[in-house]
Order: sequence, then C-alpha cells, then structure tokens
Amino acid sequence: MPRCRIRPPRPPALPRLIPFPSEASAARNAPRQNALFACAAVGATLLAFIALGHDGRRIAQLAMLAAPMVLWLACPLRSVRLRRMRAALVWLWAMGFALDGVMRAYLLDTYQAAPDGAMVLGAAANTNARESTEYLRMHWRSAAVWSAALAAAAVLTGMFVRRGARAASASVAPGVRTRLSFWMKSLVLAVLLLACLAYASKPWRRLHPAVFWTQWSHSVHALRAAWADQQQVRDRMMVRAREIAPVPSEAGPSTVVLVITDSINRDNMALYGYGRPTTPRLLAHKAQAGGQMAVLQNAWSADASTLPALRNMFHFGLPESENPPHLLSLARAAGYKVWWISNHDDLAIEQQHARFADVVDMVNRTPGRASASLDGEILDCMQEALQDASTDRKLIVVHLMGAHPHYSLRFPENANPFDDDVDAVETGLVKDGRSAWVRRFRQEYDAALLYHDFVVSELLQQTRSTGQPHDYRAWMYLSDHGQEVGHGSDRAGHSPSTASGYRIPAMVWRNREALPDGAAQRQPFRSDWTAWTLMDLLKIHWSHQMPERNVLDAAYRWQAPKIPVAVESFSR
Ligand SMILES: [Zn+2]
Repeated sequence: MPRCRIRPPRPPALPRLIPFPSEASAARNAPRQNALFACAAVGATLLAFIALGHDGRRIAQLAMLAAPMVLWLACPLRSVRLRRMRAALVWLWAMGFALDGVMRAYLLDTYQAAPDGAMVLGAAANTNARESTEYLRMHWRSAAVWSAALAAAAVLTGMFVRRGARAASASVAPGVRTRLSFWMKSLVLAVLLLACLAYASKPWRRLHPAVFWTQWSHSVHALRAAWADQQQVRDRMMVRAREIAPVPSEAGPSTVVLVITDSINRDNMALYGYGRPTTPRLLAHKAQAGGQMAVLQNAWSADASTLPALRNMFHFGLPESENPPHLLSLARAAGYKVWWISNHDDLAIEQQHARFADVVDMVNRTPGRASASLDGEILDCMQEALQDASTDRKLIVVHLMGAHPHYSLRFPENANPFDDDVDAVETGLVKDGRSAWVRRFRQEYDAALLYHDFVVSELLQQTRSTGQPHDYRAWMYLSDHGQEVGHGSDRAGHSPSTASGYRIPAMVWRNREALPDGAAQRQPFRSDWTAWTLMDLLKIHWSHQMPERNVLDAAYRWQAPKIPVAVESFSR
C-alpha cells in the first residue's frame, strides 16, 4: 500500500510573532542606533563648545581628550544603577569641557586674551570680592549670554547622556544583541587609540579642562604668594637706589604730587575737546594757571591694564632684564619723604609700589567706610600729607579709582547730569550704531569723569596753595590706561584691542620753570616714560638720565610704543 501521507490542512497564516530576518536586525539596531545617536549628539555639543574656546589643531586635541567618555555611551551596560552613574559622569565631563570653552571664548572675545596670559592671571590674582562683584555688575549682560549657552548645553547633554547603550536583557532572543559593524568598531578603536596618545603626551594632556584649570588656580595662588611679601625685593631696590646715589639739584623745600588715576580716556574730557562739559574745574585751572600748566594733548599708555602700566610707570619703561630701579626708591635715596595715598585695595600694587613709601594710606581699606568709597575720600589724607612738618621734601603719590568699572559707582548718587537729554554725543553714538546699554554706560562714564574732575581739581588746588608762594611745587596727573565706552566698538570696559584702551590724559603743573608751550604740548607722550619726567619734576640728578625721554626737556624725542593696536597717528 502506498504510504499515504495525510497532509494536514494548511494552517491559516499566523500573525507574525517572530520577526523576519530583516526586521530582526532592525529591532536589534534600534537601541544601538539610539546609543550612537546619543554619542553623536553629546559629541557634537562638546565639539561646538570646544571650537568656541579653541582654534586650529587645539580643537582636534581637545576632541580626542573628550572622546573616551563620550564613546562610553555606546558601551552596553546591563545595570540600571551603572547606567545612571554613567549618565551623571558623562554629563559632568561634558560640562567641564563646555565651561572651559565658554570661559576661553569670553576672555578671547572681551580681551583677546587667554586665561593663562599675564593680564588675566594678574587680574585674577589681584582682585578681591568687592572688585569681582563690581565687575559682574558691569558685565552681567555678556555673563548672561554665556550662561544661557552653557545652560542650553547642560539641558541638551542631559537629554542624551541618558540614552546610552543598554546590554540586551535575557528576554531578547539570542542573537539579538547590540553589535557594531566592522567599520564602526575600527573607528571607535582608532579614536580610542588617539585618545590614549593624547593622554600619554604631557603638553596635550595639559589642555584637559580639569588639568588646565587646576594648574591655572595654582598659578593664581603662586602669583598672589609671590606678591604677598616683596619686602626683600624692595630692600634690594633700596640698596641699588643708594648705590646709584641720586642727588637733589636744588636745596630748599620741594613738594611733588603724582596723581595716578584709573581707566580715564582723554576723549571724554572737555579739556581735550569732548562735547559734554565733563571737566569744568580743570578748564578753570588751565585758564588760571596759564603757562604753569601743560596739558599733554597726545598722551598714550603703553599698556591697557593697571599692573603692567604701573610697573612701567615706576620702572622707567625699562624691561625687567635691565633691572631698572624703582622711582620711589630713587626719590627716597635723594632725601624725599614719600607718601602713597590710595583709594584702591590692591595687593600687587601695594607690594610692588606702595610699600616703597614712608607713609602708606590705603583709604579704601579702612573699616567702616562704604564698600565702594568715592575718590573724594582721599582729600583729607592729602591735606595731612601736605601739612606734615617733619620734612620739607615731599613726594606724594595719589592713586585714584578714576572711572574704573563699574562706572555708576564712581560718582555720588543722583549726580549724573548726562542721562536725561539727548545731546550731540548721544546722537553721534546712535549714528554709530551703539547699543542702548553702551550709550547708558557712556552717560555713567561721563558722570564719573565729572566727579573725577572735582577730585583732580581739588588735588591740584591743594598743591597750588600749600606752603610758601616761593616754595617749589610740582604736580603731575595721568591715567594708567584708557577705556573703551563705545568709542571704537560697541562695548564698554578695558580694551587691549582698541586705541581707546590706550588714550589717556596727562598734565603737569609747576610753579617754577616754564613748561613746554603750545606746540610742544602736542608732541605725543607715553606713560611708560613717566618716571623720566618725574625725575625732572623732583629735580633729582642721577647718572642714568635720559633727557630724550623726558617730555619736559628740549631734547625730548618721541618714539612710538609697541602696542597691539594699529594706530593711525599718535599725534591726535
Ligand atoms: Zn586700571
């Protein structure tokens, strides 16, 4: 009998419970693609922030340093707790790189400076809580913009770090596992290999935000520690000054006052032709003093921030390598009693300059004063110094806050006459496309200048009226550096990258010996040569004299300073 096979009836088509092969691989791919997408999203965000703060090869180097943690997201993890921990760690890692990028981008954008440059390190080491608060009050807009970018990065990475790869659970059919293709594996391996190289190389590794900023903070502390006690350096300077043996060229009483102010741009002084009446008192002095007062029309600083500016001012603009003496040590060696009266609270300046003086009066540090004391506070100290009867040879250095940001703190409340009507200055700023907040800063800056005019004029008046009419007296005033307040760009603050950062006022008054006349007052002057002029005002003779650098001398020869800004002409 033929074997008969009973064919069962064909079953009806079953709903497909098991995926077809192609669908199976799609399901297998889904978590993998999810994880790869998370990697890509976090990686792209990171790369964007790295590119903000770095350029060229550095971007690739930073990307390699950042890569391993980002790739970790593609590595399947079974435990929920482990995955959570990974998400947190990768997020922190990414935020470290983003914060680094934002900090660098801000400094680059605002000061064209790197965080480990001398200017930024010096400023960070030299600042205090009050100054930092004032700085933030002035620059909160850019701080807000950068913080918003950072917050966006935080949210974006926060969303994606949670989508890292999970290991296949037991319920998934064998074979359904997250596997990377050969090419993907090779790519990951190559990146990891490069990352190993990055971490093996010291200069490369040092770029890692965690390493870099730790090192940065060490540098700031080291700088502060180095400043903390410069007594030995000062002692050596004094010995050197006595060896140089400077001598007074004239006997008899002599009072010399040096007023150093901060962040004053001469373009905002009516005395220099500004459209707003910011210097009525100095103009009155000028009219009254006639030939006894010289306003140096084309004064420039050689530095755009306080520390290097003052270093140059007191060390004759000579480089460190030439071991230049300190002006105050020479003055003391020549028999002057020296005062330092300051409205700054500033460690570096105090240690590098102020402590050379016989009498140091840091007015702003006196307990009980308002946290942001106005420059007028120093007038009493000045009067005391002028009345001091212990000597008749005095050098009084007065260090003012001037118009140091924040401008609104540099004049008394309700003393801003420039904020209500629209004048030619305002119209000009609008025409130049300056934003409303820069125009507002300009009004505050000009109000600060008006108050400054009062303080500086008082200091000049005190000098003019002290002692006997025939006693020799001299007074010099200048700013450490300029300030950008919408002059050359739509920003306000210290400005190494625009000429406004270097355009300073400078003037001299003395009651004897003629001063340079009209034409001579238009010769450019550079603040790093101030000490050469001051030695003349102090009437001190010494072996190193350089009359070609003394703006009061007939032999004066201008040489342009090297500043990182293209200046069309130093004579305007
Ligand atoms: Zn300054």
